[in-house]
Amino acid sequence: MRSAAKLSPSNIKKEIIMTMRPDTNIEEGLQNECCDKHLEFFYYGDGVEWEMWECKKCKLKYVVPIEIQRYWDDASLLINQEDYDE
Ligand SMILES: [Zn+2]
Repeated sequence: MRSAAKLSPSNIKKEIIMTMRPDTNIEEGLQNECCDKHLEFFYYGDGVEWEMWECKKCKLKYVVPIEIQRYWDDASLLINQEDYDE
């Protein structure tokens, strides 16, 4: 495993606060052999802010920030609104 990079102002990552996020080492990104083509979806995470992916070669797991895109122009009105009332 690669050793932690030295911290300097240019490579300090801002820690993103995410719900139910497992502990990670924010200084350690993708390891050398784990390029994105080897990564496989592993766990849906919180479904909003992060997912977990696993390297098929070395089995290291990563927490990957995600972003949800909303297409408001393609929204459609729900039929049977009352079925979803609480
Ligand atoms: Zn790997």
